[in-house]
Amino acid sequence: MPKYLFGPVFSRRIGVSLGVDLVPSKTCSMDCVYCEAGATTSLSSKRCEFYDTAEIIGELDGFLSKNPEIDYVTFSGAGEPTLHSGMGRIVKFLKGKYPQYRICLITNGILLGSEQMIDELAGIDLVIPSLDAADDETLGRINRPATGISSGDIVKSLEKFRSRSKALFWLEIFVVPGINDSQESIEAIRKAVIRIKPDKVQLNSLDRPGTEKWVRKASESEILPFVRALEPYVTVEVIGKPALSASAIAGEKLSVGDFEEAVIGIVRRRPCTLPEIASALSVGDDKLLPVLGKMADTGVIKVEKMPRGVFYKV
Ligand code: SF4
Repeated sequence: MPKYLFGPVFSRRIGVSLGVDLVPSKTCSMDCVYCEAGATTSLSSKRCEFYDTAEIIGELDGFLSKNPEIDYVTFSGAGEPTLHSGMGRIVKFLKGKYPQYRICLITNGILLGSEQMIDELAGIDLVIPSLDAADDETLGRINRPATGISSGDIVKSLEKFRSRSKALFWLEIFVVPGINDSQESIEAIRKAVIRIKPDKVQLNSLDRPGTEKWVRKASESEILPFVRALEPYVTVEVIGKPALSASAIAGEKLSVGDFEEAVIGIVRRRPCTLPEIASALSVGDDKLLPVLGKMADTGVIKVEKMPRGVFYKV
């Protein structure tokens, strides 16, 4: 089983993408209340070679040499990818050997504005950074960043990267009712968006269990003020329900013995429903359900009911 790669996963946003997880689970410079990967266990904005860069490149090479039909190689996962100090080498390798595949980065944006990062990400095609708050009080309540990181720093970082990079730039705003939807908070975000000038803004809200139980999905009427405030300046999309279906890793069929490991590999990154896991593993619900039932009974995975369905998670 791959150590650093997951998917390919299909999403309405970017099509079929191969995920690359560059940092140990929940190593991040933020501890967002809505994070679907759980609470941050290592909160820092210091970069480090968490995993051997050559080993990650080797795994990517092994996968991509089979010419899989994917739209993007995406740096994401259960932590902040830019914290891996070998990212520049990985981007360079991908652009050099597999230029036919586009590269996407999903990031909290804190490090984007550094000269080093701008340099390392020179060949990247799409960046999806977050900006859930543009004032310090809201930032502290929603993103709970590592010490010394202010909302002003993040906005400056995004603005600088945007002005220097040729990559498509889609700014994601996660709406948390009661936290970042006040008039003042939306006004601060509006001003920041005008400065950053993203290609588009994507409004997201809770779709699967977050870190804090009290976080709930935003209603249409709670999302509308964001749309009204931002639409005069930028294209706005509401991405309430990220679609999730997938094909089996590199087209390889999994043996029954691999099931449990494969399921853990999927739900450890984010909670998933039965159809999502079945689709990711290319197996029928009927074959998967008994396995999930056994794993839940023995405490290997947990089950949580949400308005959108039953979710399985670690
Ligand atoms: S949502 Fe992203 S930035 Fe926030 S804690 Fe999770 S991994 Fe970190």
